[in-house]
Amino acid sequence: MKLRYLIAFSLAALFAATSADAKIRVFACEPEWGALAQELGGDAVEVDVATSALQDVHQIEAKPSLIAKVRRADLVACTGADLEVGWLPQLMRQAGNAKVASGPGYFLAASQVTTLEKPAKLDRAAGDVHPDGNPHIQMDPYRILKVAKALSARLAEVDAANAASYATRMAAFEGRWNAAIKRWEAKAAPLKGQRIVVQHNSWIYLTKWLGIEQVGALEPKPGVPPTSAYLASMVATVKEKKPFAVIRAAYQDPKASKWLSERTGVPAVALPFTVGADAKSQDLFALFDSTIDALLGAGK
Ligand SMILES: [Zn+2]
Repeated sequence: MKLRYLIAFSLAALFAATSADAKIRVFACEPEWGALAQELGGDAVEVDVATSALQDVHQIEAKPSLIAKVRRADLVACTGADLEVGWLPQLMRQAGNAKVASGPGYFLAASQVTTLEKPAKLDRAAGDVHPDGNPHIQMDPYRILKVAKALSARLAEVDAANAASYATRMAAFEGRWNAAIKRWEAKAAPLKGQRIVVQHNSWIYLTKWLGIEQVGALEPKPGVPPTSAYLASMVATVKEKKPFAVIRAAYQDPKASKWLSERTGVPAVALPFTVGADAKSQDLFALFDSTIDALLGAGK
């Protein structure tokens, strides 16, 4: 009797251990891809997110804790288009994890969609120009859907045993997402044709989607802080073009946009930019809800 108990218990423990181990470990560079992997993978995945919404993903330190996470990953999901060029290659090299070095285990979101602002030819004089276009694709829900389909297929490739469940989850996500897009577009309709000033050039996918016109950027070149002469010229631009808001990502220093706001009376607005930036934006759906609410609030 005792032995039988013991065997039953050991088998149960063993089963629990193998089913836990069977989870696919996803290493996501940014919160939006972590959230998407969680939506599409459900219980079959365990997600490590390298950065938080309050960090600047252009500049991340390749810390040992991140290397350890890449080392145990089955799938790396990042933006690509050079966004993580300062840290991801180093993480990958030091992790030495062949599973995610190339092939199905290495997934770049920007490679699944067409990017905007792709230079026709590379000109060094233009400064910090990305050859693969603007990497900040996550605020366009149509691109998110394309990335979702590719990521779901990739999960099924890496974890063939759960392929059917990934397909089911993808179909459910697509239905909910398409319904949400309709809702967002109807709600954001008053923003169409309005003008905006941005702090960093990371909103073109959002503004293009909603038909908002960007009339200036507080960073004259991506990643370069504005000089006082440049800021003065922005005051003139704002007075002439009358944007309804100066927007920045939650992770950014508010100084420049507040300065401009104080001199022009145009409200400075922090938008979440990714999942987890504020109390509301706790998943991808809420991220778009809170972004549109914040823009509408500024436009009033
Ligand atoms: Zn950028």
